[in-house]
Amino acid sequence: MSQSLSSSAVLDNPRMFDVFAFVRKQQQACGEVLVQDLPRILNEVTPDKLVQHPALRWSATGALRQELAADDKTVAMPYLRLTLQGALWLECQRCLESYPEPLTIDIWYRIVENSAQADAAPANDGHTDVIVGSHQFDLIDLIDEELLLSLPLVPKHPVCPFVHESIIGYGAETSN
Ligand SMILES: [Zn+2]
Repeated sequence: MSQSLSSSAVLDNPRMFDVFAFVRKQQQACGEVLVQDLPRILNEVTPDKLVQHPALRWSATGALRQELAADDKTVAMPYLRLTLQGALWLECQRCLESYPEPLTIDIWYRIVENSAQADAAPANDGHTDVIVGSHQFDLIDLIDEELLLSLPLVPKHPVCPFVHESIIGYGAETSN
C-alpha cells in the first residue's frame, strides 16, 4: 500500500468544496486559519490583542461508517471529522486582563443532504452533530461557528496574575 499522501491537503479552497465528494472519497485535509477570517470569533476576542492571535490549526477527515438502516440493510453513512487546535485571547472576567484561552475541538458531523434528513437524523449524542452538506461547503464558516460554541461562558484566567489584596497584607507591612 502506498502512502495516502495524495489524498492529504486536497482542499484548494476550504471555503468552497464539495463535502459530499470529500467524504465519499474519505479524503483528508489540514490547514491554518486566522482569527481575522472568523467574523463570529472576532467579535468575542480581545481586539487590542488581535496581532497576538496565533493561527488556529484545523484538520478535516471524511469517513464512511457502516450503519444499520431501517430496512435492516447496512449502509455507508457519510461523516466529517473536524479537529481544531490553538488559543484565543479573551478578556478575563475576574481581572479584566487578556489571556490566551487554549481551545481543542474534535467533533464528528454526520453529513446529510437536506434539512428534512437533518430533522430525521438521530439526536446529537454530544460527540456527533448533524449538518447539511453542500457542493460549495464552507469549512471556515463551520470552524467559526464551532469555535463560538466552544468558548467558555465566563472567560477567566485559571489564576489571575495580579496579587490579590488579601495576599498583599500577608507577610508584608501594609499599614499606613
Ligand atoms: Zn484574570
